Amino acid sequence: MFGPITRFDLHQSRIPRQWYNIQADLPRPLPPVLHPGTHQPVGPDDLAPLFPMALIGQEVSQERWIDVPDEVRECLKLWRPTPLFRAVRLEKALDTPAHIYFKYEGVSPSGSHKLNTAIAQAYYNKREGVTGLTTETGAGQWGTALSQACKFYGLECIVYMVKVSYQQKPYRRAIMQSFGSTVYASPTDNTEAGRSILAEDPDTTGSLGIAISEAVEVAAKSGGKYKYALGSVLNHVLLHQTVIGLEALEQMEMAGEYPDVVVGCTGGGSNFAGLVSPFLHWNLTRGKKTRFVAAEPAACPSLTRGTYRYDFGDTVGMTPLVKMHTLGSSFVPAPVHFGGLRYHGMASIICEMYDQGLIEAVALPQLEIFSGAMKFLQSEGIVPAPEPSHAVAAAIREALAAKEAGEKRVILFNLCGHGHFDMAAYDAYLAGNLNNYEYPQEKIEAALAKLPDIKDPTAAS
Ligand SMILES: *Cc1c(COP(=O)(O)O)cnc(C)c1O
Repeated sequence: MFGPITRFDLHQSRIPRQWYNIQADLPRPLPPVLHPGTHQPVGPDDLAPLFPMALIGQEVSQERWIDVPDEVRECLKLWRPTPLFRAVRLEKALDTPAHIYFKYEGVSPSGSHKLNTAIAQAYYNKREGVTGLTTETGAGQWGTALSQACKFYGLECIVYMVKVSYQQKPYRRAIMQSFGSTVYASPTDNTEAGRSILAEDPDTTGSLGIAISEAVEVAAKSGGKYKYALGSVLNHVLLHQTVIGLEALEQMEMAGEYPDVVVGCTGGGSNFAGLVSPFLHWNLTRGKKTRFVAAEPAACPSLTRGTYRYDFGDTVGMTPLVKMHTLGSSFVPAPVHFGGLRYHGMASIICEMYDQGLIEAVALPQLEIFSGAMKFLQSEGIVPAPEPSHAVAAAIREALAAKEAGEKRVILFNLCGHGHFDMAAYDAYLAGNLNNYEYPQEKIEAALAKLPDIKDPTAAS
């Protein structure tokens, strides 16, 4: 007997020719982004020192479909279309009537979905004559992806890597260096932002917010030689990730099913939006009733416990002000937290989806995440990165709820990266050294008390 088909592959010619821009269909538009000095809405000129014009255009575009340049599609062919799997062994292990599907982005050369946007960003920067890109990286997936993309397009790449990751993940650093990138453990003393942080706390383990401040400063002071690239959060990044969901729509059709619930983990929101947006488009325009679940860590619960206010994207306050669900830009994650997804804020697009009631969010404790990951890898053979293990655990919750309710629920989740560079986290789990750290309410309140005092132009007066 040959059981159900469990892998759905698309031909290379099906790599999407256009990205889907959810901004065109959100019932309420995104709140304006404000200048850090004047608190007035930013214009293209304010962003020009940091980003090429093509990306600034995409950031504010209201066009529903945006063409993927041929050269970018050529590069995507290296690993796209990515496979969609049905996790039948996991279904069996859970003894659930649910059907569980996952889109696997770990087949990219850098091991995660990040390369989808890295390629596009490097392409547009090169076309506008930039010498190199500066960026930050936490766990190292983004730095790896951008390093490769920069090498492909002949750009220099300077990476500020969060210090604790730099120490815990020497092999990630070595990959970036192999691609020719310069990698610093952030905070450094080569930026004003880094020096001011070190003066306050010389032993800081760093944070994404601090690393962003450093990378932005270097680009902003370079007189146009360097621009800055961000691997998540921004509208154009989420746009580039929609290749994931557009492919998945076709693959679910091949499987003869349509998801009742779509799950993704949320750090800054890009892999989640990439998978979810095309399905949400069908909810908004074709009467589909799919539920969407954002899975975040209890140790960094920006959607479920943050406040929806204007805040900086970085720690020092150099970036524009964005209205977002935030834990405060002074947030420094606990080093005992191994699960990734440590950014204090969230993409504006995700925040509006959440605020407008289009998506749900759930915060998961660390031990459930790793026990879910173990169940998944022992059934399906793929070691998930800790980040998508949040999606795995949330999908397992959905499958068990379906069993409880006695219903056949079709679940689709994004396995947005493999965990081959994260075995130290698995090691800690296996040794019993992980705990269920929940971010303390006092710390949330202390960080929120430091939020900039901004009049919200979208608030009813
Ligand atoms: C960067 C990253 C994340 C978190 O970023 P999002 O923008 O929320 O997707 C999650 N998983 C993996 C594998 C990543 O590399």
